[in-house]
Amino acid sequence: MVSLPFLDIPPSLNYIAVFLTLRCHLNCSYCINDPQQEGIRKNLFKREGASLTPEEWVRGLSRIPYSDNLPLTLQGGEPMIYWGGEGVGEILKGLPHHFDLLTAFPYTPEKFSKSLQGQEKKFMRDAPYPSIRVSYHPEQMEKVWHEKGFEELVDRCAGLAEFGFRVSPNKSESDVGIYMVEHPDNHISTRMEDVYRGRVPFEAKEFLGEHDEQLYGTYLYPYSTNLISSGTWDKSLSCECRTTELLLDPLGFAWGCHFHLYDSWSSGGPLDAFEALVVRGYHFMNNETELFEHGKVSPIGHILDPDFSLETLKEFRPCHDYGHCIGCDTKVKNNRFQSLDDEDNAHTSVEIINIDFPDIIKKKLKIA
Ligand code: SF4
Ligand code: SF4
Repeated sequence: MVSLPFLDIPPSLNYIAVFLTLRCHLNCSYCINDPQQEGIRKNLFKREGASLTPEEWVRGLSRIPYSDNLPLTLQGGEPMIYWGGEGVGEILKGLPHHFDLLTAFPYTPEKFSKSLQGQEKKFMRDAPYPSIRVSYHPEQMEKVWHEKGFEELVDRCAGLAEFGFRVSPNKSESDVGIYMVEHPDNHISTRMEDVYRGRVPFEAKEFLGEHDEQLYGTYLYPYSTNLISSGTWDKSLSCECRTTELLLDPLGFAWGCHFHLYDSWSSGGPLDAFEALVVRGYHFMNNETELFEHGKVSPIGHILDPDFSLETLKEFRPCHDYGHCIGCDTKVKNNRFQSLDDEDNAHTSVEIINIDFPDIIKKKLKIA
């Protein structure tokens, strides 16, 4: 098969997310895949198993030039269960790139290592933070592992040392680290400190969302995530928006933001459009209007489209969903280098302009 042209990577590209699958073995109530965070994740994605094959991913991702400091991040759902647990290894085998992995670590270290088919090095790179970022979800894991969830998870991560991974309590020297969402119901206990200290890096990360009518997280764009739920306005607003991230859904479609990706999949996923795209030789750019219903939000491209270009990320697109944004797009964060040199310039994944705030909200926000 003819290989696809390389993509030019703009310096502004901060993150490459490959959502291998939206399936997950857990069902966290605050799952960020569920825009409403209503604890209905298991019922949200009816056709969550649809995905590109590992070969298709290798073909598409091979267009991204190798880079020391811009890894391809495999995530989901739970990426390790993609393609019967064999998919991650198959993709790593086919590409020279560095990878990061966002996982709830469903396998033992032995099974995890075996599934990587000798490609462990692809998850090892010098970076200020671990490539394998394991999330600890107390609500689910303590149930599954009979009140020993944290112990099991730390043992699994520490056990990676036996399979050649660097495991250190210092996060810049470790290939693996554990993260817990600072949800108001999640607490770091002394029992947990005794378990992880001196073994693996462990950090709590900001909870993004609402709990007991309180909004958590620091957002650059006011009301971007809670306009309607806070009772501030009864419908979403129009604006123009662009992203600094390449977000690829399980079928290889690139989306302009996390909300549009999750929203599309919770409404059945772009499976029919994908079938039609295959018939058209993956030419998305010239067929967009035929593939997606008029008036509905559509992706911004497809990784297997020979004409796909990251120039598309530079374009501000009209959006009528301001207020439904997902926190990880509009929260203030560091860039991929985790440096503080952009501290004066708040960095967010998306840039939003021309928000049509009604006068009453403008007044509240003291904007002209
Ligand atoms: S492990 Fe992650 S993807 Fe799975 S339900 Fe929990 S938060 Fe969602
Ligand atoms: S304004 Fe919000 S919903 Fe619209 S594209 Fe940007 S991040 Fe997505």
